[in-house]
Amino acid sequence: MVILFVFSALLISSYDFNMSGTNVNVGSISEDICPDDSIPSDFQTDICVIKGKILPDEGFSGSMLALDGIKPEHAIEVTSTLKDHIDFRFLSAGEDFEIALDKEKNIVSGFSYMPDPVTTHKLTRNEDGYLEYELIELPTDIRYRHVSGKIVSTLNQALNDAGVTPSVAAVAYGILECIVNFRSDARKGDQFTVFLEERYFNDVKLKGGKVLLASYDGKKTGYKVAYAYRDAENNSAFNAHYSRKGEALIRAALRLPVDKVHVTSSYGQRIHPVTGKKTFHYGVDYRGAVGDPVYTVANGVVTDTGYDPVSGKKITVRHDDGTKTVYYHLSSILVKKGQKVTSRQQIAKIGRTGRVTGPHLHFGVVDHRGKWVNPMKRKMIATPKLQGERYARFLVQMEEVDNLIKEHINNEKMLARYTLIGLGGNELF
Ligand SMILES: [Zn+2]
Repeated sequence: MVILFVFSALLISSYDFNMSGTNVNVGSISEDICPDDSIPSDFQTDICVIKGKILPDEGFSGSMLALDGIKPEHAIEVTSTLKDHIDFRFLSAGEDFEIALDKEKNIVSGFSYMPDPVTTHKLTRNEDGYLEYELIELPTDIRYRHVSGKIVSTLNQALNDAGVTPSVAAVAYGILECIVNFRSDARKGDQFTVFLEERYFNDVKLKGGKVLLASYDGKKTGYKVAYAYRDAENNSAFNAHYSRKGEALIRAALRLPVDKVHVTSSYGQRIHPVTGKKTFHYGVDYRGAVGDPVYTVANGVVTDTGYDPVSGKKITVRHDDGTKTVYYHLSSILVKKGQKVTSRQQIAKIGRTGRVTGPHLHFGVVDHRGKWVNPMKRKMIATPKLQGERYARFLVQMEEVDNLIKEHINNEKMLARYTLIGLGGNELF
């Protein structure tokens, strides 16, 4: 009995020490382990590390709460710190994270989110008691890939045969679908090209990749091409693919309701930031400053404007296809009921009216049957056209991509030539 008592006293004292310390290394603990009296003290740890994965259709909150011992306040603290550093739109199911808690599972001492083998978004409790963010990135090398083929069966099949991962293939397909009407204009023997930027770590390709260019050369369509545009900021709503003239690719789809994409809460289960209860969030929250512009996402008619204590100042717009979009927590409303609005027209300003913790736009979409749907699953695009400084920047980026492709094709030719000689070809002799 006495021995046991001393044993647990030791554990408590080391726990106190660690809680005030700053060197809680979440990433280095390789086992899912919590303090356990059956383990000899030499192997004992006073930090409990719980491993989890991002679940389909759940954000961090939902995925964390699915784990044993994680309380709503843990999830709230972690997500509210992370949202300043991570664009939650790009979470995907199956990604790993770890939460380190004290032995009693009361306080989060650290958190790590590893979207890929080279990136760790890490939170560590600092001396002042706050969770401090750190991005750890291992060096990777960038390689380019030129995927080109003829339309024999379907484009998807061709991309798949070329070993393009499904998510990147979907992006490429979406671009090509916008520049060519496959249904009426595609012909057998038409040629497509996709130029990709991919990252490697120790010669292993990381998931994902960027489509820098997609082009189509067809009997009926002629040559069509689209390039990626990258704004100075990673979360700019302008980051998308455009024609050489800077025109956005989507024909009649949704645009974004804000200038800057900073999603603080996405569609689905979440812990309500005010009530602390687990609720379903029927929209997307975009962070912004009071007074920032709010735009309609497509042409339509304003069917309602008003105020209620929960949504604050609000607008509803009905679009041509029967879809409705809602905009909540506004500081001011710039349109009237019955007014016609066009895509990307400013209709309001971001505010903090209603039940909120800070200024943001709550944006929701109701489909033509009256059902709430996930706005993120809708095709959205930044803006109809790149202009001014942005277009100038785009011109430079297009030239860079063109040069990269030329260089890449030359290298491939050199390699082919070298291989030929190596195989006993006599081209040079
Ligand atoms: Zn909301």
